[in-house]
Amino acid sequence: QSMIELQEVSKQFGATFALRPTTLAVKKGEFLTLLGPSGSGKSTLLNLISGGYSSSSGRILLNGSDITDAPPRKRGIGMVFQNYALMPHMTAFDNVAYPLRVRGYSKDDIKAKVTDALKRVGLSGFENRKPKQLSGGQQQRVGIARCIVYSPSIIMMDEPLGALDKNLREQMQDEIKTLHREIGTTFIYVTHDQEEALNMSDRICLMNNGAIVQLGTPDELYFRP
Ligand code: ADP
Ligand code: ADP
Repeated sequence: QSMIELQEVSKQFGATFALRPTTLAVKKGEFLTLLGPSGSGKSTLLNLISGGYSSSSGRILLNGSDITDAPPRKRGIGMVFQNYALMPHMTAFDNVAYPLRVRGYSKDDIKAKVTDALKRVGLSGFENRKPKQLSGGQQQRVGIARCIVYSPSIIMMDEPLGALDKNLREQMQDEIKTLHREIGTTFIYVTHDQEEALNMSDRICLMNNGAIVQLGTPDELYFRP
């Protein structure tokens, strides 16, 4: 069954299509990567799914339910951003706890879930650090912990490794793949790096000029010796 289904979904800004009418089904538990140059519509597609943008046409289904007009909070979709978007005055613990506090979880629940999420990203012992006291990679691990902590139905990552150097990027690609295997959640991942897409994805959705131009497994899309 599909976790996310887009039926002829489009987004226009004035006369310009950021996303042309698009139909796409993402399977349960799948790791799908949107790959394409800057301006091809990748972030627009994520924003339409998360509810950051309202669609200009079409319907969006989440696990069979129509969420086209649902507010972002109701969709239960987790986001990880390129710039981490951590709150600088808060510790790692409080950053990760934030989505749980917003949702009214109990103190004991918060402690247990935050501890587990930080452990999953290898940051046990870093609870009391503020973002400035963490390396770039560690800050993004906090961003990932904050995303997984409330068990969202889909995890979307928008160029999460874009600000990191090459070695760390490769290491964290493996960490994110392992995380996906362990938690089994549907992932939608955005990158403009072909190598990264080939390394990580079950399927790659190749985008250009506001449209999907190809969709398939890495082996279907690229010849690899
Ligand atoms: P990508 O994520 O692939 O770089 P985007 O989805 O950000 O591409 O952008 C697709 C197109 O839509 C671009 O031409 C961009 O300028 C335009 N666009 C995106 N968001 C807005 C906005 N809020 N207002 C006007 N144009 C936008
Ligand atoms: P990178 O070069 O990868 O950005 P850093 O040099 O920022 O890494 O950090 C290296 C190590 O030092 C990390 O374990 C980080 O948590 C720790 N660290 C960095 N800044 C501080 C700080 N102000 N206080 C305590 N530990 C810090």
